[in-house]
Amino acid sequence: MADEQHYTKKSPHVFLFPFPVQGHLNPIIQFGKRLSSKGVKTTLITTKYISKSILSHNTTSNSIEIEAISDGFDEGGYASADSPETYLKIFQEVGSKSLGDMIKKLQSEGTNIDAVIYDTFMTWALDVALEYGIRGGAFLTQSCSVNNIYYHVHKGLIAVPLGSTVSVPGLPTLETWETPSFVHNYGPYPGWSEIVFNQFNNIDKASWVFANTFYKLEEEVIEWMKKMLPLKVIGPTLPSMYLDKRLDDDKDYGINLTKANQSECMNWLNDKPKGSVVYAAFGSLAQLGPEQMEEFASGLRDSEANFLWVVREDEVEKLPKGFKEDVNKDKGLLVAWCKQLDVLAHEAVGCFVTHCGFNSTLEAISLGVPVVAMPQWTDQITNAKCLEDIWSVGVRVKVDEKGIVRRDNIVSCIKEIIEGEKGKIAQTNASKWKDLAKDAVDVGGSSDKNIDEFISELIS
Ligand code: UDP
Repeated sequence: MADEQHYTKKSPHVFLFPFPVQGHLNPIIQFGKRLSSKGVKTTLITTKYISKSILSHNTTSNSIEIEAISDGFDEGGYASADSPETYLKIFQEVGSKSLGDMIKKLQSEGTNIDAVIYDTFMTWALDVALEYGIRGGAFLTQSCSVNNIYYHVHKGLIAVPLGSTVSVPGLPTLETWETPSFVHNYGPYPGWSEIVFNQFNNIDKASWVFANTFYKLEEEVIEWMKKMLPLKVIGPTLPSMYLDKRLDDDKDYGINLTKANQSECMNWLNDKPKGSVVYAAFGSLAQLGPEQMEEFASGLRDSEANFLWVVREDEVEKLPKGFKEDVNKDKGLLVAWCKQLDVLAHEAVGCFVTHCGFNSTLEAISLGVPVVAMPQWTDQITNAKCLEDIWSVGVRVKVDEKGIVRRDNIVSCIKEIIEGEKGKIAQTNASKWKDLAKDAVDVGGSSDKNIDEFISELIS
């Protein structure tokens, strides 16, 4: 393994505590792998339910240990709670106690825990760490642009409900609808809105604030946030094999909760010409309504491009009747899940229709794949704005008055990327970002330096 440092006293040891869903596990685990490659002992704290649901665990020769606490939903996890609000409330109550008990036990056995790096969706973890004399590192899983907007709302610097446009440092003026959905439409998910605004509640007590992004991508916003917070950006947190290749065997995020139909995808892609395939996926949680599903399916078909579409098992029943059966197998493939990184890295893929979750966003940027941005909710809407207007790697779909993206618009966006002028520009920019992403994590890159700096502070 690269870079391993040797410590004269006990190795520093950090707890990594992600919010228990795939998209939040991935970045913190990757950060953990970077830390362990530099000699830091890391323990992933997850819930009993997630730890039972892990289908495969390969965190580079298992360099990360796993310990489980209770979130109060040991049998069914998040999906078994009757509402997000119930889950979040009970997780805080039961999780705080369970995390505290684990720390107490380990400390009484002589285990050193030098920092708890917690997902800012669970600010209570910082209070628990501090209670046991351990320093805390806040980990922001969303972009700094989005977090800066949440920070402004939290501090009352922008008023909700919003005016017609929104200005925050480091970003161009945003139309109201370009802000994260929790900002311009607070109502429907009060539990989640509180979580994202409250990320900054106790952040002044954190010794470090980490963010999964890289300096060049969000330079101005990062500079501004650094004035406010002890910010260290450490991303992009893709497995090393897709970036600097310094970590042996680090090809995968390492903890998979869903089984991928990988050989089917790869065999199918291997037969397709370079840049000819549209890869469409909406992440692990987003749900398309039946009407949107129908329009999207028709748009993909009418685009006449080759397509690989991930339709999760919980979404399949919304497909138009007969669509799956009628798809010409040479032209289109539907799978329930794939290894997205391998798909995006395949030379046959020329366009990524994405819901713009921040992992998918960073994956597109880091692998140099132009996008059709089709955001659904939360930070995805602002990520889509950045993808099109700031990073210039793609186009955004347009919704009609019913909030639906129609098939014609899907066809024209795909054609623009696969065949049009915008696609060429997007490809040039995507290739530029790909190089910059690699540079950030490579030896002496901005993120690599920040990780080294953190380790020095941890052992001092
Ligand atoms: N992903 C995957 N296979 C799929 C779809 C998604 O491996 O078929 C991965 C993707 O690479 C990303 C994560 O799942 O790392 C989704 O995270 P993101 O932040 O994009 O979206 P979320 O699921 O949190 O909405």
